[in-house]
Amino acid sequence: MNAQKLSKRLATVAAYVPQNAVVADIGSDHAYLPCYLVKRGHVQKAIAGEVVKGPYESACHEVQKELLQSQITVRLANGLLAIEKEDGVTAITIAGMGGPLIASILNAAPERLAGVERLILQPNIHAIAIREWAVANNFAIIDETIIEEDGKIYEILVLERGHQPLNEMELLVGPKLMLEKNDVFVKKWTHEMKQWHHVLEHMEKAEQTTEIIQKKQQLQQKIDAVKELFI
Ligand code: SAM
Repeated sequence: MNAQKLSKRLATVAAYVPQNAVVADIGSDHAYLPCYLVKRGHVQKAIAGEVVKGPYESACHEVQKELLQSQITVRLANGLLAIEKEDGVTAITIAGMGGPLIASILNAAPERLAGVERLILQPNIHAIAIREWAVANNFAIIDETIIEEDGKIYEILVLERGHQPLNEMELLVGPKLMLEKNDVFVKKWTHEMKQWHHVLEHMEKAEQTTEIIQKKQQLQQKIDAVKELFI
């Protein structure tokens, strides 16, 4: 992967960035995503935020190598603190982290979201944390997609401001993904259900305390509810 050729995962994230947005990529590592967007003329201006020195230096190096310093500002900062009011950021991308970490980054500095119209979020795991954050913070899922690359499955969620209550199943698997039910979605949840069955088997062997019995019931309900999706 480089600034010319992104992974399928990051290219999918990039495709959701609106044309001519001012984009902030948080947790930018090599800054491949902002470099790719600027080089293609998709956006004119971008911020690359990184909290760890090594990846921050890689991002600086990449931007210099591509001669994009006038269009991409790289900042060593924690989460949304990489965004300054004067930047006029309209879209944020956060990719390649767990859902709970992405949600905690969004929660840590909500004032930095002023003026932001779209969030493009790619959690590696636990996308539910992002959907819960969206409901609690008046963001609606305007699109979501699920892809497979190199044997790994990724969800990409696109949020804009709006009120969208979601039920438990929609929070877990995604309101749009559960309607579309593509092959990757079926693969992901078939695998998850297998894992849950293993957990159930383990719990059967444990001492049947009230807590274990309750947990088994909850897990069985979850399995039954997800199974329903495929009937
Ligand atoms: N976004 C790139 C991608 O999707 O390929 C890089 C993903 S890498 C696995 C996650 C990056 O996020 C790391 O470079 C890490 O240092 C950075 N990161 C983690 N927490 C962060 C935070 N609170 N603020 C900024 N960057 C963060």
